[in-house]
Amino acid sequence: EAKLQKCGYHLFSAGILDTFKRKLELENELRRAIDRQELHIHYQPQICASSCRIEGIEALLRWTHPTLGKVSPGEFIPIAEETGIIMDIGKWVLKEVCAQLSLWQAAKLDVPTIAVNLSARQFMANDLVASVQDIVNGTPCDPRQIVIEITESSSMGDIESVLPVLYQFKSLGFQIAIDDFGKGYSALGYMKKFPIDILKIDKSFIQEITSDAKSAVITKAIIDMAHGMKLKVIAEGVETPEQLETLRTMNCDVIQGYIIDPPLPSDKLESRYLTGECL
Ligand code: C2E
Ligand code: CA
Ligand code: CA
Ligand code: CA
Repeated sequence: EAKLQKCGYHLFSAGILDTFKRKLELENELRRAIDRQELHIHYQPQICASSCRIEGIEALLRWTHPTLGKVSPGEFIPIAEETGIIMDIGKWVLKEVCAQLSLWQAAKLDVPTIAVNLSARQFMANDLVASVQDIVNGTPCDPRQIVIEITESSSMGDIESVLPVLYQFKSLGFQIAIDDFGKGYSALGYMKKFPIDILKIDKSFIQEITSDAKSAVITKAIIDMAHGMKLKVIAEGVETPEQLETLRTMNCDVIQGYIIDPPLPSDKLESRYLTGECL
């Protein structure tokens, strides 16, 4: 027995074992999170760089577990993707967003577009478009009010299989945004082939535009190129007044980041942005 234990210690360092246990625990808990109503959505404003009006809202998933507390999407989304739980969660997110959008419309508020993140894994389901359409059709929402954010990544599979799905979404009226642009490796190929409306520059560039000349040059080039293709450009992760000012001089269209507001509960987003006043 002593020998086995020793062997065990050789195979797994305590750190790896803890990580493994945590993952298993999160996976088990995540399976029940929807039914137990532990998930909710926060809404982050996207502001027009020149007029300071609200241009859009990004829906971001939050998970508060009764004993584990707040678990960040950076930790649980990858687990949801690996295990396929993201399929159910993705549907729940869209339903929730449509329900919120319907409430705001019923209250006669002037609501901008709402962006929803879709995982590459969700594109592997061949009923993705049908299930999205089903959910939206069951509500008073118009697909034109919804932006689908996708991250260009290797797990996206080959362009050839994703392309028809994107065209179906487009023909139903949804807008398409490419998320984390610049982070991947085949960004330009996607830009040429995908029917996109919005390009979101990855925050790793934005956070260095005032300190690193190369990041500034790349950001400016991305903005000019996107405008040449009639795309709207959103800068994410804008945190400082200097970054904001630099992005304004670069003609960036839309600003998203802590400098404006973090993702907010729906009631806060509503009182701060949908009831009339400007910043
Ligand atoms: P993302 O789609 O790139 O979302 C932007 C992330 O940047 C969010 O992190 C947001 O809270 C954070 N952020 C916003 N402003 C700032 C800023 O000024 N500075 C910094 N440092 N960060 C800022 P969050 O909410 O933790 O989400 C992390 C990722 O999890 C998202 O990255 C997205 O990939 C994924 N995710 C979140 N919600 C969903 C969802 O409903 N479905 C799917 N499939 N993925 C989601
Ligand atoms: Ca996003
Ligand atoms: Ca992003
Ligand atoms: Ca992302």
